[in-house]
Amino acid sequence: PEDIRVYEFAEACGKSPAEVITVLFGLGMMVTKNDFLKQDELEILGEEFGIEVTVKDALEDANYVDDYYEEEVDESNFTTRPPVVTIMGHVDHGKTSLLDKIRSSKTASAEAGGITQHIAAYTIKQNNQKITFVDTPGHAAFSSMRARGASVTDVIIIVVAADDGVKQQTEEVISHAKASDCPIIVAVNKMDKEGANIDMVKAQMAERELTPVDWGGEIEFIPVSAKTGDGIDDLLENILLQSEILELQADPEAKAKATVVESSLEKGRGPVATVIVQNGTLKVGDNIVCDTTYGRVKAITNDLGKQVKELGLSETGRVLGLNEVPESGAIMVTQDSDKEAKDIATKRAEHARAKELSKSTKVSLEEMSGLI
Ligand code: GDP
Ligand code: MG
Repeated sequence: PEDIRVYEFAEACGKSPAEVITVLFGLGMMVTKNDFLKQDELEILGEEFGIEVTVKDALEDANYVDDYYEEEVDESNFTTRPPVVTIMGHVDHGKTSLLDKIRSSKTASAEAGGITQHIAAYTIKQNNQKITFVDTPGHAAFSSMRARGASVTDVIIIVVAADDGVKQQTEEVISHAKASDCPIIVAVNKMDKEGANIDMVKAQMAERELTPVDWGGEIEFIPVSAKTGDGIDDLLENILLQSEILELQADPEAKAKATVVESSLEKGRGPVATVIVQNGTLKVGDNIVCDTTYGRVKAITNDLGKQVKELGLSETGRVLGLNEVPESGAIMVTQDSDKEAKDIATKRAEHARAKELSKSTKVSLEEMSGLI
């Protein structure tokens, strides 16, 4: 309702902008012809001119396909799904180092050939149980993914450097983590350093209602060193314990549903989306829709850069075959036919355009259909 300009309103009810401005001015409201009218101003004008003002949401009828993913919950197919873990923390506290160390220490050296380059997500095995780690590109991206309801994370690890303690971004991360309702594990990193003080970290975190288990609270604090690798097994065991409690389950037979954690346009390959599978199994040849993009899965490479035919529950890989680059946080879903996939993506794209348009021109006259 706040999307109508004074002159548009005037036009719609056959008045001049001056008349509208005069009425509002008489009531102590200063507007110009191009200003947007607020809800209360609209109500006053309606009363003053003796018309009923109902402004329809222009997008209501846009045939918006929001629920195009019908979650097929067939519990008889349920299997345990590996946990997806996000590592967060203050800059330089060792997120990247820890992710790298976990990956290199848990990947057979024969496979680890091209392991040095940055990847958005990877899966390791600890005692034959899988864990997928996601590298958060930044807090902004993380919260935008959360805002879109695309929270892929099951467990959050907050890294705090033992020689530095809680810092500003640690605070931000704590509030993200609390809001997410995920179990939290604190990795107290850089324990190899002189001046490492885990009790200081525990005290600072306890002040923020993250009380260590050994202090009577519920949060596990695991001392680690991303440099030496000490404590990493403890950390992984703890992740598995937490995820057991969560009883993560999904249906590997369902239509695949995956979340994009990173995407780019690559020379010679086209749009590439790094995804984590949340339900079902994503296969080469699947018809997919991903927000306003669509296509058929041409190829999948896993986190070691190897071509694979499919990605299972909580697994991650890079998917080729979309017509455009999807945004991080977008949800990829398989469809029965390529036509369906295209139709849904097209409708969504039209809707997105309509929304953009209504943002720039605000509400057009037709959409003010309630105005007499
Ligand atoms: P990020 O910003 O949280 O990703 O932090 P980085 O992983 O980039 O680490 C920041 C710096 O701390 C780098 O110079 C790392 O080598 C160093 N670092 C990270 N973890 C450890 C650790 O456990 N011990 C020591 N001594 N240095 C570490
Ligand atoms: Mg980093």
